[in-house]
Amino acid sequence: MPDTDTDQLRDPDQLRDPDQLRDPDQLRGVVAGFLRRHDRTGDRTAFLRARFDAGLAWVHHPVGLGGLGLPWHLQAVVDDEFTRAGAPDNRPRRNSIGLGMAAPTLLRHGTPQQQRRWLRPLWTGEEIWCQLFSEPDAGSDLAAVATGAERSGDGWLVDGQKVWTSLAHRARWAILLARTSSTGRRHAGLTYFVCDMTAPGVQVRPLRQMTGEAEFNEVFLTGVRLPDAMRIGEVGEGWQVARTTLMNERVAIGGRPLAREGGMIGVLADAWRRQPEIRRTGPHQDLLRLWVRAEAARLTALRLRQQLVAGQPGPEGSAVKLSFAELNQLISGLEIEVRGAAGLRHDDWTMRRPEEPDLLGRTATYRYLRARGNSIEGGTSEILRNVIAERVLGLPSEPRVDR
Ligand SMILES: Cc1cc2nc3c(=O)[nH]c(=O)nc-3n(C[C@H](O)[C@H](O)[C@H](O)COP(=O)(O)OP(=O)(O)OC[C@H]3O[C@@H](n4cnc5c(N)ncnc54)[C@H](O)[C@@H]3O)c2cc1C
Repeated sequence: MPDTDTDQLRDPDQLRDPDQLRDPDQLRGVVAGFLRRHDRTGDRTAFLRARFDAGLAWVHHPVGLGGLGLPWHLQAVVDDEFTRAGAPDNRPRRNSIGLGMAAPTLLRHGTPQQQRRWLRPLWTGEEIWCQLFSEPDAGSDLAAVATGAERSGDGWLVDGQKVWTSLAHRARWAILLARTSSTGRRHAGLTYFVCDMTAPGVQVRPLRQMTGEAEFNEVFLTGVRLPDAMRIGEVGEGWQVARTTLMNERVAIGGRPLAREGGMIGVLADAWRRQPEIRRTGPHQDLLRLWVRAEAARLTALRLRQQLVAGQPGPEGSAVKLSFAELNQLISGLEIEVRGAAGLRHDDWTMRRPEEPDLLGRTATYRYLRARGNSIEGGTSEILRNVIAERVLGLPSEPRVDR
């Protein structure tokens, strides 16, 4: 595996007693000191690298891996200070899979060398990540993954096809679930790798969505060579590693920190206030009901994030992802209804490959069409209801052939 010489922490503030940094005021002082020493108007990447090296990227990570070993919730203190100062951020939507899924998986299951190599350029956005999990016959049921990885010399040869791979066309690296054994229990034959998306044998072809855009792709893997150092976790333990990714994925999709009236409800409420011609009594009641549900979902996501502290997200993440999908579909449907004929006008069917997918952008029709995917991506709503029923509510599980 290629390795880079990750800079060691240089900022004098790191020398403070870590316990003192648990005090938000002390932590604010560290950010203020950092901002005095680093030019926020200069080179964006240099600024972000320095922020990572100062442990102010993910404060809950260990020192040397972008953090200060602090409780997870203190990240909000740091982020607020940087935002207030007008400092550049790492454009999180551009690398949503890297930040939301690959990073927590590497932190929990990667070797120190893997963490040093990948976490810093991931956080700064210099290297984009994608997720090679889904296959034409293995979406919800990842135990059916058929893409194979076979031992070859001191590494692996990978062959197979993946599908619906968001951001594969921009990604430098991928998290990859592959089958290393076809005997025994299906889950036990899976192994988790990082795949170099520039390696010979990786072919990425766009798949167009009904919005007109191609956010995702088919990915063909033909004789792709991976050094063994790109394996995350033990051979045959890919399922355990993948569970970390999936649980984080649900929180990343459904549990984003939002301001009051953030997300789709904000777009509709804003239109309702500004455009008297769309207001009618029936939809008014519907809007109020959805507004209350959106606010409840936002506060639930906030509480879930606070409960996480430095721990792993639990099955409760499925509930926030489920309500995110349901609400987006209901709100975008109501928006089409209240806007009438104007709401049905789609702006442009030109195929785009957006750099930062934006659920809120463009037209009401775009939002309506894009929201259909919310109940599929990151685990379908049916599957999430199963998770909630079995693992949150403790109801008996459905009979399954693989158990
Ligand atoms: C916008 C978008 C982006 C995506 N990005 C990525 C990505 O970057 N990387 C990636 O790997 N994948 C990605 N996906 C794929 C996504 O994770 C899968 O589509 C999803 O897991 C469902 O798999 P499937 O499409 O094969 O449907 P299937 O698994 O075939 O399911 C079909 C239907 O059957 C239902 N079903 C299946 N099993 C059960 C069960 N046991 N109980 C009840 N109902 C069941 C499902 O809920 C669904 O309604 C993306 C999908 C979308 C829409």
